[in-house]
Amino acid sequence: MARIGFIGLGNMGGPMAANLLKAGHTVTGYDLNRTVLDALTAAGGKAASDAREAIAGADTVITMLPAGEHVRAVMLHLGGVIEQARTAKPLLIDCSTIDVATARDVAEQAKTAGLEMVDAPVSGGTVGAAAGTLTFMVGGSEAAFARAEPILKAMGRTIVHAGGPGAGQAAKICNNMMLSINMVGVCEGFILAQKLGLDWQKLWDITSTATARSWALTDYCPAPGPAPNAPSNRDYAPGFMAALMLKDVRLAQQAAEQTGSPTPLGARAADLYAQLVDAGDGAKDFSVIFRWLAEQTRDKLR
Ligand code: NAD
Repeated sequence: MARIGFIGLGNMGGPMAANLLKAGHTVTGYDLNRTVLDALTAAGGKAASDAREAIAGADTVITMLPAGEHVRAVMLHLGGVIEQARTAKPLLIDCSTIDVATARDVAEQAKTAGLEMVDAPVSGGTVGAAAGTLTFMVGGSEAAFARAEPILKAMGRTIVHAGGPGAGQAAKICNNMMLSINMVGVCEGFILAQKLGLDWQKLWDITSTATARSWALTDYCPAPGPAPNAPSNRDYAPGFMAALMLKDVRLAQQAAEQTGSPTPLGARAADLYAQLVDAGDGAKDFSVIFRWLAEQTRDKLR
């Protein structure tokens, strides 16, 4: 069983750490927000008073932090994880969703210090984190992946080795950029159908077996009704929050600019999600863009 130092025990990290404990690993955790440490101790873990204490004696260090700047601060700053880990050489697993450039930079600095590291962002949200059914998209060497896989299995169901350092983050932002574009496309189809007097259920019955078929349509239909388990049937309670989708499509745009990739629809989706979040819907499920788009034309939803 692994001795794990876990930094960042928020909405995702908290339940992930609880699943590691359930699987029999030991977990010492640290978070700037002291209140989340109580849940860790209640689940059988140990609360540390700083990151240094959390990773002392650990053979694996997991981070689950908001963004690239936090990962840089925790990993790279003077006295940070990489400096402290030089002697014991724990495996570093960063599960945060961050920009590819930071992921590659941190992995490079870990390598220089003689450490193995993977980027392992997740999909599945807080529900998947609690249920231990997350999907991990992993970037790093074969050796680092082989070390990480058994640990990740305690928190997830699907563990995919995407490629070298940063490949996990690349997979995550490409997926979410495609999903955001696809979601807006489905919304536009359902709004147009309503304007044309076509019943939403009929449109769904036809398109879900026709060439427009997609997960956003069949499983997550943004128009209330046709997909019973979709957030559209519960006032767009998340699910996957619109603010997090905006974060991911912005990361995709940043990567597209850095690599000179043409992503006109990704840029448009980022712009639409920014407007949606500005309008106050950031904490709703990302499929709420349907209601917001419909309101642009002053449509009344059924
Ligand atoms: P969160 O804000 O709930 O948790 C992040 C935690 O990190 C907070 O508790 C914060 O106090 C802590 N933190 C920040 N800086 C720190 C530092 N220097 N030292 C110690 N602790 C520090 O966020 P979350 O929802 O758990 O998301 C975490 C990551 O997972 C993000 O990158 C997010 O994009 C990604 N993600 C989230 C979801 C989701 O549904 N919430 C889904 C997929 C991916």
